[in-house]
Amino acid sequence: MSENRFDLIVIGGGPGGYVAAIRAAQLGLRVACIDKRGVPGGTCLNVGCIPSKALLQSSHHYEHAAEEFAKHGIQTGSLDMDTAAMMARKDKVVMDLTKGIEFLFNKNGVAYFKGAGELIAPDQVMVTLLEGDEQLLTGSNVLIATGSDVATLPGLEIDEQRIVSSTGALSLDRVPTSLAVIGGGVIGLELGSVWRRLGADVTVVEFLDTLLPGMDQDIRKQMQRSMKKQGMKLKLSTKVTAAVANADGVQLTLESVETGAVETLLADIVLVAVGRRPYTSGLGLQQVGVALDKHGFIDVDEHFKTNINGIYAVGDVIGGAMLAHKAEEEGVALAEHLAGKPGHVNYAAIPGIVYTSPEVASVGRTEDGLKQDGVAYNAGKFPFSANARARCNGETEGFVKILADATSDRVLGVHIVGPNAGDLIAEAVMAIEVGASAEDIARTCHAHPSMGEALKEAAMAVDGRAIHI
Ligand code: FAD
Ligand code: NAD
Repeated sequence: MSENRFDLIVIGGGPGGYVAAIRAAQLGLRVACIDKRGVPGGTCLNVGCIPSKALLQSSHHYEHAAEEFAKHGIQTGSLDMDTAAMMARKDKVVMDLTKGIEFLFNKNGVAYFKGAGELIAPDQVMVTLLEGDEQLLTGSNVLIATGSDVATLPGLEIDEQRIVSSTGALSLDRVPTSLAVIGGGVIGLELGSVWRRLGADVTVVEFLDTLLPGMDQDIRKQMQRSMKKQGMKLKLSTKVTAAVANADGVQLTLESVETGAVETLLADIVLVAVGRRPYTSGLGLQQVGVALDKHGFIDVDEHFKTNINGIYAVGDVIGGAMLAHKAEEEGVALAEHLAGKPGHVNYAAIPGIVYTSPEVASVGRTEDGLKQDGVAYNAGKFPFSANARARCNGETEGFVKILADATSDRVLGVHIVGPNAGDLIAEAVMAIEVGASAEDIARTCHAHPSMGEALKEAAMAVDGRAIHI
């Protein structure tokens, strides 16, 4: 085998690609992973999950110090903020984690190429290395894991200065006086929260009549209340029809979707967060004949195979939930499938978390969806205001809601708004994965005092027997 011949060539070193590469190498395949960013980790580590959570944590500390410490008898005097130090910490968190992936590539014998990969034949990838040279790799299998990129709006040119995408919003060098966020989805609420906590006047402009469309109705209602209470201004059922940027800021023209009424909004910075689109340019897909669906995602079968033998795709580029852990699951399943094992992803048990405060976490079916499909269910709900640990911590906003099949009691969906929701959901994901009933959760001993007791009580409430409400 020549040095540039591999069993698997992975194009894209994000959570889908790098995890697939490591798992395949663990299983004995000779693997190459190509990424053109210069550092591995993809969107998630470099300009997504990780930097956003680092800033959410810093801004959470700042807001807590300003507003909560005194309630605990802690006096801080006046508070100062050093934006540059906050950004430097975030950058270090990112850098340390990307170095960790390079270490794992080394440890597992994955050949890592820093450059852009382009398919020139179904089994051949030309890498234009960042240093300029070209290198031809040949592989029995090629995995496309090139992820996604920011979706734009016509008439709004993202310059990453005044009109920014999530990438620009993660690196602002000062707190904007006002921030207009276009899109009330996950990025809008997370990054809107970061800058609001640090002092920006934030307005979210959302086309639909709700924040977080697609989530359970009770979560959407609660989050609307919570975000408003925190001082975020919400303009729902509103579209942006024009944007004019000048030295003082950006003037947005807004139009009500319901009445057609027009108004303007002047913002220091505008964040465009209206979704993401598959990233397939420069990959040579056309020349090898890889088919896309009508939305531009790569079409794959249940084993992530494209229409071309030997070419596979996982992660954001194939659509579905654009989540790092979904991409990772697919990467592992594909690697195991290629190694002759039964790789599999259970899409009914993929959690989704919004890292706001209160946090949101969901898995499985929503109440709206069950009603639409005529599925008979029982719902149990338990508020954090009745949970002892939440009271000790002073974090009583929100609830746990469990939806269980009316006949079998099998858990169909769990929706949480509240403290540590993102960690609490793991138990619910496991319940769905193993086909547990609400009664199984209700009869499982949960330590006291802990937030997890709210999940147990919600499970008991499914059967009308919660103790603490
Ligand atoms: P990506 O991570 O996008 O990686 C693809 C890589 O391929 C990129 O590095 C790209 O440079 C490279 N590439 C593209 N074309 C080529 C080529 N021709 N040659 C070589 N390399 C190429 N998800 C969560 O689950 N939790 C979160 O908290 C979360 N927060 C997010 C916050 C933000 C601000 C954003 C933008 C996204 C967030 N996401 C989160 C989504 C998550 O980042 C993505 O779902 C995930 O990164 C998808 O992984 P992937 O491997 O499919 O693609
Ligand atoms: P999103 O799909 O979550 O939200 C986009 C929002 O923009 C929607 O509410 C949509 O109705 C609205 N919108 C669309 N067009 C509009 C318009 N013209 N005017 C006003 N509003 C408009 O997308 P996002 O927030 O950009 O995030 C992109 C992806 O990144 C998501 O798929 C998400 O899963 C992922 N992500 C995940 C996390 C997490 O897991 N915590 C965090 C950030 C991003």
